[in-house]
Amino acid sequence: MVEEVRIARRTGFCYGVREAIDKAKESAAAGKATHTLGQVVHNEGVIRDLQQIGVRSVDTLDDVDHGAAVVIRAHGVRPEVFDRASARGLEVIDGTCTWVIQEQRQLQELVEEGYTIVLLGTPKHPEVAGLLGFAPDAIVVDEEEDWVKIPRRKRMALITQSTQPPWKFEKLAAFMVGRAHELKILNTVCPVTIRRQEDTLEAARDVDLMVVVGGRHSANTKELTRLCEIAGTPAIQIENARDLDDASVFADVRVVGVTGGTSTPIEDLRDVAERIYLSGGTDDVRSRAGALATAALDAAATPAGRTTSLPIRTPSPAGAA
Ligand code: SF4
Repeated sequence: MVEEVRIARRTGFCYGVREAIDKAKESAAAGKATHTLGQVVHNEGVIRDLQQIGVRSVDTLDDVDHGAAVVIRAHGVRPEVFDRASARGLEVIDGTCTWVIQEQRQLQELVEEGYTIVLLGTPKHPEVAGLLGFAPDAIVVDEEEDWVKIPRRKRMALITQSTQPPWKFEKLAAFMVGRAHELKILNTVCPVTIRRQEDTLEAARDVDLMVVVGGRHSANTKELTRLCEIAGTPAIQIENARDLDDASVFADVRVVGVTGGTSTPIEDLRDVAERIYLSGGTDDVRSRAGALATAALDAAATPAGRTTSLPIRTPSPAGAA
């Protein structure tokens, strides 16, 4: 039976995601018709909260009315998106993560310096699509079987999507040493990604089972699950507390660890902890599940600074004092 749930240190939104969400909320609170270009984060609770204050997610700029505000999410976009938005008379609120902006600048410099660029990333990921706007000829590679398509060139540069696992980047860098006479390596793996992986590994070492919370298709979340398994701890990956519908997984475990991807609000991890206590605890534990889950959240390293983002504020009605 479950006696204890431990939430990994430094979970919750990364600063890039939190900033983009806050910018959307601030815009709506200022009474502006606010949109996000694509879902600001793939989390249904967050999307629902934003919808409640009037923030709409749109797939293209064509869905935004003249004069309205559009928030660029943390992944960033191709530079021409800003031009098209201005041409349509939209107010652009740039929520591109500062780390991604730095990546974009570095890519641009590599292009100007004439390097053949290899970009480690998931080809259809929005961050990669945005980066390609700065280096259209970059060769995008992901899994190891792709790497054979990397040509041999005199001057090559390697850069990466921010959320790629560090081990993969290092392995590709070693592979590319044999592909170029001059190889420039820019390690743009985001420090938040690295810390998240370290803390997940640390948590996994001391528990009987890990629960990893994040988008089903998120490579980053899958990587956290893989790391738990490398640590020798069984792990289950879920999107939210509702996915924990099989209490039998907790039958033989005493301590359960919980971690989450960078798009998972910390409040979701508390809900997952409560669900674990309710599913796997004794009658006594079940009766205190809510309080125990809150205590698990409080026990994680720096809870105050990691909460979702700005509180939801309802915009004042137009013309109100
Ligand atoms: S994972 Fe890192 S690079 Fe990506 S949005 Fe978050 S802070 Fe920015």
